[in-house]
Amino acid sequence: MTTNNPISCAPFEANGRQYSPSARPIAVICIDGCGDEYLSVSLAAGRMPNLATMIGSGYRGLVRGALPSFTNVNNSAIVTGMPPSVTGICGNFFLNPDTGEEVMMNSPEYLRCGTLLHAAAKSGRRVAFITAKEKLRTVLGEGIVENGGIVFSSEKVDEAKLASHGVDDAESIIGRPRPDIYSGDASVYVLEAGAALVEQGRADFLYLSLTDFMQHKFAPEESESLDFHGRIDAQIGRLLDAGCVVAATADHGMNAKNDSEGNPKVIYVETLLKSAFGEGLRVICPITDPYVVHHGALGSFVMVHVDEPSKIPEMAAFLLDQSGITEVMDREMAAKKLELAPDRIGDLCVLSARDTVVGKTPQDHDLSVLKGGLRSHGGRYEEMVPLLLSEPLNETYRRKAQCDPRNFDVFDFACNGSL
Ligand SMILES: [Zn+2]
Repeated sequence: MTTNNPISCAPFEANGRQYSPSARPIAVICIDGCGDEYLSVSLAAGRMPNLATMIGSGYRGLVRGALPSFTNVNNSAIVTGMPPSVTGICGNFFLNPDTGEEVMMNSPEYLRCGTLLHAAAKSGRRVAFITAKEKLRTVLGEGIVENGGIVFSSEKVDEAKLASHGVDDAESIIGRPRPDIYSGDASVYVLEAGAALVEQGRADFLYLSLTDFMQHKFAPEESESLDFHGRIDAQIGRLLDAGCVVAATADHGMNAKNDSEGNPKVIYVETLLKSAFGEGLRVICPITDPYVVHHGALGSFVMVHVDEPSKIPEMAAFLLDQSGITEVMDREMAAKKLELAPDRIGDLCVLSARDTVVGKTPQDHDLSVLKGGLRSHGGRYEEMVPLLLSEPLNETYRRKAQCDPRNFDVFDFACNGSL
């Protein structure tokens, strides 16, 4: 089924922000885990010729992501245009204050505002939201299929059905079968799906969200990483050839978290605090998700829940004293300075250094899954990410780009930012 209906350029509003998309297809890509150095190294090696052309006539800059620098936190911010204080998604897990249980935020009821994808679909755009990981589809995909759009993940592309996903037999549209989730292919497949949907006239407003398996495993200069970026570039070329306005950003960067011998540098915060203060506290690792092979549930951000509030200042001071811990904020400060929802975070938020991760106890993390050292994210040092646009910026957005633009402004730049 190919439709030749004109593309709607009706403006729409989401969460108080206005979007005025042009009548060209718009493809926004979240290159999961793409610290700017991945692009610099691949571009310098001549492996991303389409991206080189795109930013030559368009824009390349840096923007600040949301903290903690995790995938769900930032994807939620990107599709709503709002910080985590509004979306309520402050990690993959939170401690429900009413039940005392650790809850995985894997369904739409945890998202506290609507998405701009839903609003775009209602305004008449043919929206496609394609993710690598199924978990993002379930949390952020509400309201799109009901308004004529398409939503599926490469992880479960073979389960896509017209009634629930907006499309039957998605694999035949893309032209090849479901990829392995633990592969670079899972990301390339998302871009192939996006390009095929535009080429076939099935979508004109796309959010394509990749997975960071490759970035967790490989540094920018490794040959596997260069090959991967070459494959991404080929699909960016396809989107550009199909006439798309292409914009891209990342949810977070990625850093090696090892000592000089190559062994993971881990601070077990719950073990450390209990040895100094006794029981009555609990550490939550909000990076924890079903994809443990990526990172062993170790990132540069944890939350501490404390039974006795009077102990909190002393614990904060103790943690800040540890080498490798860079920032410790209490709930009120974290809500203010990290833009987090106070009821979805701990009494303390703990951030670690560029080369260090924070965890719970040694028993809670299986380091054996981390073959070849640990690369991870979650903290301040993975906060700055690229913003790329295939079009030159207009005067207003040139100025905005020099202020403090965010990765969750990417749809704003894509819809409103060009000449
Ligand atoms: Zn990610």
